[in-house]
Amino acid sequence: MEIKEILTLLENWDETHVLTKEEALAILELPEEAEETLIAAAGKLRTKYKGKKVSVQLLTNVRSGNCSQNCAYCAQSCESHAAIEKYRRVSDEKLYGDNDLVDDKHLARHCIGLSGIRFTDAEIEDLACRIRKMKKNGTQICCSIGFLTEKQALMLKEAGLNRINHNLNSSRSFYPNICTTHTYDQRIENIRMLRRVGFEMCCGGIIGMGESHGDVVDMLMDIREIRPESVPINFLLPIEGTRLADRDISGLTPQYCMKVLCLARLMVPQSDIRCAAGREVYFKGIEPTLFRVVDSIFASGYLTAGGQGIDDTMKMIADAGYCGEIESTDEEE
Ligand code: SF4
Repeated sequence: MEIKEILTLLENWDETHVLTKEEALAILELPEEAEETLIAAAGKLRTKYKGKKVSVQLLTNVRSGNCSQNCAYCAQSCESHAAIEKYRRVSDEKLYGDNDLVDDKHLARHCIGLSGIRFTDAEIEDLACRIRKMKKNGTQICCSIGFLTEKQALMLKEAGLNRINHNLNSSRSFYPNICTTHTYDQRIENIRMLRRVGFEMCCGGIIGMGESHGDVVDMLMDIREIRPESVPINFLLPIEGTRLADRDISGLTPQYCMKVLCLARLMVPQSDIRCAAGREVYFKGIEPTLFRVVDSIFASGYLTAGGQGIDDTMKMIADAGYCGEIESTDEEE
């Protein structure tokens, strides 16, 4: 496609327009001088749906390491030799302490992650008990967990869990390059079941694992069909001891990363677009530009990688001219 055509499309952006694969690819390949036009188009949608709010989430790793799956990027995978802390059940002190922090600091949401792909009903009931306790304050909770049975999903729903994170990670055709112990279609099936049960969905991916621009577009097209409430876009942080430790990440320039985030905003404009892992590395010092498009971030690190502290994060948001979202509790919903 001609650059001129894409620029005209962006300058006269019509939200009802469904981007084709060809158009989306052309956006990812726009030259640097077109960046402002792209950010302006995506930024209008950000302002329309999210105002000046930045939703800040805190992440607690409830179960760490010893996963049976071989996801190439993950420090917790069965192939990883990364030096991480491993445990089956985080202490109550840590979990409830983090939940209090979410409430005290008025963060948007408490995200809890569990390594592993299958869980027993007894394990899910144990998790449901802990969720019930945290829900007493009305905290918004999202859980990143493997594949649930419908019965287990209902147990968590009944406990008050609001949202589940289940990422697509990459495109269907690229997926076997990063994981062979489960399939992309199993992920899609799981997401469909969770939707049927009535969960809000958080569903995104990882950029920089060796995929093509076409893979990024294919993944975003599938995400567009799912219409998740939240779309976390992670930029690969190669971890020593994982299969992607030596992955060349020179293509992850701030300009390219911004293009991916803009494309996500154009394709799912009403969703929270979260710049997840990699924010502190790939966007350091350019947060005001980032927030023109993105309305959601993590504070205090990722599952096995550190991050920025909460107070520093809130200050950075204010300095950029935005406000940390004081999240709706259940009562305000
Ligand atoms: S991403 Fe999840 S399923 Fe894959 S190895 Fe890591 S913990 Fe296991």
